[in-house]
Amino acid sequence: MVEEVVVAAAKTYTGKCLCGEVSFSAKGLSDIWYCHCQQCQHLTGLYIAAAGVKRDNLTIEGHVNWLPISEGSKSGHCASCGSYMFWDEAVRDTVSVLAGSLDDTEGLTVKGHIFVKDKGPYYEITDGLPQFEGFPPQGTRGETL
Ligand SMILES: [Zn+2]
Ligand SMILES: [Zn+2]
Repeated sequence: MVEEVVVAAAKTYTGKCLCGEVSFSAKGLSDIWYCHCQQCQHLTGLYIAAAGVKRDNLTIEGHVNWLPISEGSKSGHCASCGSYMFWDEAVRDTVSVLAGSLDDTEGLTVKGHIFVKDKGPYYEITDGLPQFEGFPPQGTRGETL
């Protein structure tokens, strides 16, 4: 499966983990999605905000601990401080970069919520953005995740 990355902003974004051991640069990022799936809840305690970048356009420096979190996907964490920074599924040509690790998010906006079927009943989504049970349908999806 090859998906076309709709680049929200063609500039190069940089980011790093909490301790600074891992840094990256991403050339061209898609807009941001909030993901409420079980994996994200377990990894972070709630949901994530992530943008997509073509795998070839992502340069990582430092020691990333890649953990298998499902059959075909893995999450990338700083080996020193544990910051959750990347999500990579082999069948996609994009890697998700967690928005919280970006140095600057200028030019990026949030497109909506995905995997809301997994959302816990203890919080509400009240921002009025589109919500999808799983992955958003092709076309609205554009790019990432
Ligand atoms: Zn770190
Ligand atoms: Zn998720």
